[in-house]
Amino acid sequence: NIRVRFAPSPTGPLHIGGVRTALFNYLFAKKQKGTFILRIEDTDQNRYVEGAEDYIKQALDWCGIPFDEGPGKDGGFGPYRQSERKHLYKQYAEQLIKNGHAYYAFDTAEALDHHRKDHESKGKTFIYNWHNREKLTNSLSLTDDEVQQNLNSGVPFVIRFKSPQDETLHLFDEIRGDIKIDTNILDDKILFKSDGMPTYHLANIVDDHLMQITHVIRGEEWLPSLALHVLLYRSLGWNPPSFSHLPLILKPVGKGKLSKRDGDKLGFPVFPLAWTDPKTKDISSGYKEDGYLPQAVVNMLAFLGWNPGTEQELFSLEELIQEFDLKRVNKAGAKFDPEKTKWFQQQHLQQTKTSILSDQYAQLLQQKNVSTTLDIHKIVDTIKERAVFVEDFWNLSNFFFIAPSEYEAKATKKAWKEDTPSLMHELIRILDDITDFSEENVSTITKGWITGKEIGFGKIMMPLRVALVGSLQGPDLFLIASMIGKTETIQRIENAIE
Ligand code: GLU
Repeated sequence: NIRVRFAPSPTGPLHIGGVRTALFNYLFAKKQKGTFILRIEDTDQNRYVEGAEDYIKQALDWCGIPFDEGPGKDGGFGPYRQSERKHLYKQYAEQLIKNGHAYYAFDTAEALDHHRKDHESKGKTFIYNWHNREKLTNSLSLTDDEVQQNLNSGVPFVIRFKSPQDETLHLFDEIRGDIKIDTNILDDKILFKSDGMPTYHLANIVDDHLMQITHVIRGEEWLPSLALHVLLYRSLGWNPPSFSHLPLILKPVGKGKLSKRDGDKLGFPVFPLAWTDPKTKDISSGYKEDGYLPQAVVNMLAFLGWNPGTEQELFSLEELIQEFDLKRVNKAGAKFDPEKTKWFQQQHLQQTKTSILSDQYAQLLQQKNVSTTLDIHKIVDTIKERAVFVEDFWNLSNFFFIAPSEYEAKATKKAWKEDTPSLMHELIRILDDITDFSEENVSTITKGWITGKEIGFGKIMMPLRVALVGSLQGPDLFLIASMIGKTETIQRIENAIE
């Protein structure tokens, strides 16, 4: 049984990079009828941010990628918050000490700082490992009695992993293939602290093991931890899961990782949902609030580092599940493209049923205090092709609901000539005589009249458009006329003549 997990730390809102990681885990699991688990990695109390866990759940929910197991949804492997699993970790740290794979260290922050500076002054980097651990204050340099005394008298300690010396590790990443690591460059990472809390590394490995995770799929920033993680599995006598590290998401312009600042600068969100910082009260925008459809965001995220190997770009979530394959995930960083994101949005908007869109538009009209008896479904059908967001519907169709209060200068200049008022008076008489004001009828009669007069269509159609719409834009004029009705049509022409 395939079991994967998304394991965010609740240190703030989920960045779209985090959502991409969740999505790839979800797609991988669902394709193989596996289980997608949400685990909250909140061992670092200092970085805990109020509301972040709720945000994460709401974001997954909005994207349509719900977890099968997680906080509040026990699948027999809970609890799913590491702070609630506190009691589980210590025994494994102690087991590692007993087997010679870890040790107590009592170095003070000042002492470590001193060593660091000392190294730096000689142009070297300080690595706490086999190279110098005997000279530092830990159970490998103290006698057993001294260690016991320290522990008894409550001297603050950490438990460090004892990384092996002079070994070449052969690691494997599903996306990157074979990776060789010289253990001499590894430092002895802290696994456990005297406050009773494990560090990320220990908790992560213990939980992946206990939760029977089969595949770890996570961001590239965790690749440097892979050696330690594989060593931890070995030292605990456990089988490691398979590992895949997803490529970085890069800035749209320039070099480096996509950050919130890029979004602020170029005007696009980097969060799925809007977020209010609990401390500063700063509000960051989100895709949802900016009017994006979740399926567009999901489609866009799927292409950040993955492609189907065909020309097809538009995918529903179901199709993504069918097509997704870790073998088609790239190593190279994926450039984030806000314009392409809009394109996905536009495409998915076109694929959304008009009935759904007209419900949303009806709500928008209500918010704008526009009451109408017009057929919104029909209006949406005629304009949606030119819209990217539901919000755009208003600009594309407000003239159906309200008469233009001003006329675009450029349009008037082009459309309104000296003889226009008299032609418009004539047109009013023609329109007034039409009893069945259907689109077809208005069109046939008006066009017949223009043809009979032997003047160009533009001489009538352009000023009529200015009168009804206020500009030279918009859908078919006769459709507009028939929808707003005879009285309103004539009224608007009269307004324009004045
Ligand atoms: N808690 C880690 C994070 O916030 C999880 C890394 C992992 O998936 O192993 O990204």
